[in-house]
Amino acid sequence: MTDFTTASAGAVRAVSGRPPAVSTPMEFWQGLSASVVDQIADNWYATKELYRKGRRQHYFSAEFLMGRALLNNLLNLGLVDEAKEAAEAFGHDLAQILEEEPDAALGNGGLGRLAACFLDSCATQDLPAVGYGILYRYGLFKQEFRNGFQTEHPDSWMEEGYPLVIRHEEEMRIVDYADLKVRAVPYDMPITGYGTKNVGTLRLWKAEPMEEFDYDAFNSQRFTDAIVDRERTHDISRVLYPNDTTYEGKVLRVRQQYFFVSASLQEIVENHLEVHGTFENFAEYNCVQLNDTHPVLAIPELMRLLMDEHGLGWAEAWKIVSKTFAYTNHTVLAEALETWEISIFDRLFPRIMEIVWEIDRRFRMEMKELGLDDGRINYMAPVSNGVVHMAWIACYASYSINGVAALHTEIIKRETLGEWHDIWPEKFNNKTNGVTPRRWLNQCNPRLAALLTEVTGGDEWVRDLDVLKNYVDAGNEEIYDRLNEIKHANKVDFAKWIKNRQGIDIDPEAIFDVQIKRLHEYKRQLLNIMYVLDLYFRLKDDPQADIPPRVFIFGAKAAPGYVRAKAIIKLINEVGRLVNNDPEVSKVLKVVFVENYNVSPAEKIIPAADVSEQISTAGKEASGTSNMKFMMNGALTLGTLDGANVEIVDSVGYDNAYIFGAREEELPELRRTYDPRHQYETVPGLRRVLDAFTDGTLDDGGTGMFHDLRWSLLNTNGYEPADMYYLLGDFEDYRKVRDQMAKDYADRKKWAAMTWKNITESGRFSSDRTIRDYANEVWRIEPTKI
Ligand SMILES: *Cc1c(COP(=O)(O)O)cnc(C)c1O
Repeated sequence: MTDFTTASAGAVRAVSGRPPAVSTPMEFWQGLSASVVDQIADNWYATKELYRKGRRQHYFSAEFLMGRALLNNLLNLGLVDEAKEAAEAFGHDLAQILEEEPDAALGNGGLGRLAACFLDSCATQDLPAVGYGILYRYGLFKQEFRNGFQTEHPDSWMEEGYPLVIRHEEEMRIVDYADLKVRAVPYDMPITGYGTKNVGTLRLWKAEPMEEFDYDAFNSQRFTDAIVDRERTHDISRVLYPNDTTYEGKVLRVRQQYFFVSASLQEIVENHLEVHGTFENFAEYNCVQLNDTHPVLAIPELMRLLMDEHGLGWAEAWKIVSKTFAYTNHTVLAEALETWEISIFDRLFPRIMEIVWEIDRRFRMEMKELGLDDGRINYMAPVSNGVVHMAWIACYASYSINGVAALHTEIIKRETLGEWHDIWPEKFNNKTNGVTPRRWLNQCNPRLAALLTEVTGGDEWVRDLDVLKNYVDAGNEEIYDRLNEIKHANKVDFAKWIKNRQGIDIDPEAIFDVQIKRLHEYKRQLLNIMYVLDLYFRLKDDPQADIPPRVFIFGAKAAPGYVRAKAIIKLINEVGRLVNNDPEVSKVLKVVFVENYNVSPAEKIIPAADVSEQISTAGKEASGTSNMKFMMNGALTLGTLDGANVEIVDSVGYDNAYIFGAREEELPELRRTYDPRHQYETVPGLRRVLDAFTDGTLDDGGTGMFHDLRWSLLNTNGYEPADMYYLLGDFEDYRKVRDQMAKDYADRKKWAAMTWKNITESGRFSSDRTIRDYANEVWRIEPTKI
């Protein structure tokens, strides 16, 4: 036995209180996880000590969608074989143990997953960066389908114990609101890198009451009164807001935001003072990346700390603040630019509001001097019309403003943040998103990983995905056969997994055509299912039609309050019922809606995908990152010229992707005269599809939701134009290109050659590249080894 197997067996005993052979797989997972921490503890401490003395980047994010951690850590540390050996020595199976791990789903979707990929890339490249967020007791809700409707359930991911976060009581801070004072206790998650000893940190804050309960109230038998403040405090880190774009529970939401930025900044400021003894060089040693506007309260909070706690004047403090923050914008959707009522700030933290007013006053003066007119100044001001504009504060105070794909950055410069770009063009830059090839290729697709290691003669590609570019032209018959075998084996695995999970039978010989992402109208899952319904009708018309077998795979959660998104989920499930229960059609077509889509299901689905659906209305998807994960795993993109799809096509060429639909620059003109009823009347098959929503073909359980969907596509709705996202406008082209794609699949060699091109060109979409660009151009930090 190796040291690790002995140590992990001991850790299993410590968790279970019995011999490893009779411990449960869950206890084994706990023991193995504790052993990972044991292995890295010394290096982790050394890394923290090293980083806190030099220039550091602090990544502030309300979300970190981490997924599972154990296998990732074992792979990084080269301990997979040892862990297998430890499990087998006691009659356990590592694969089964790994399945016990709950996902740390502390994020909604792309934005939170990006933060997780970034931490992985920082660790792997030895970059001094720390993540800061909230230790939500409940992650993103668990989704269940009941009669095809989404229902939401709490995700208590750490209830059974989670060894991969370590509480640091001694580094507790106090966060003070006008109506409540709470303790912020940090829990650190180690972030190991591939092929390095450095261990990065994700610091997640948990809110705890100053006193466990009010002893006097309890003693006087006022039991409920005794725990009121405790519950109000626990509320702060109780739940992740399950909403990508608009927010409810506003006061609590703002409380959460202030909670984690205040605790994090207190720590950063104290550390700086301890190490450097002066604030003069604060911005030389610290920068903070704001992941969207959720952490923007950090700007007035740093002003407060420097002025009120450390005696700096406004000018000195502002000089520091305006060199410290960098802001990433994640969306062009107007409803996502956060604003908060002044009354919320007044109630929670009047001093912060006072500082915001002063920022506002100085901003207005400065703009007046630049000669801006009053209308424009008022539009851009941090405070106007009774609300605080978080994005405007971010734009004003930050030294860097970036978009997340080339097209997205052009759109924010031109429109979303156009007024700011006019004044400070030099602040703007693009950082196209990326995903980590450790999790999204090496870990989730071991068969393809082995082939790449074989072809490139080593595993250097895992740390440097650009290595693959040298093998673009190395594609040959043998590689293509291997690629097809690998994809087929992955599809067999997925078929078993979904059969076991949801009881559905699918044929691995069929084309696996996948759309997995949050449910949103702009992402157009509705357009996808309309195609499926049309195809169903075509097959009913002509049962002999030459249609290649297809499995249409969906995975998506809808925000609980987003009624129309939930209607689309129900619609997909109903079309699924229609298709899957038809004895003839179901031999050719299947619809699978993967319940409770999350990071670990994504790791099963993506390696098995042939087709990657990236079909958002052009201009609406900031970047997308699932498009990149699919590309790395040899699925071909079927998409619009939107977000990072533009750059994917730029890399692989139009011959190796399937592009359709109106372009972003064409849409304003097209929309000017657009009447979706014309499409409804004239595009063959479209009427039949839309009428099926309401003519009894599909059943919405008497809710009227399918009628509403159809209505929204054909009729103006208040301020919202008919078919806001241009589904009917793009339908015909989508159908044509998707049909062609299915036909092309038959030429297996040619298809494999296309997938090889995609895989080998995917280095550009590694988050290592993204992070290198941030490190060099925004954060100005250097790799630093322990
Ligand atoms: C990558 C990922 C996303 C982002 O998907 P997009 O298609 O880019 O919106 C969302 N959720 C999970 C679980 C992911 O892994």
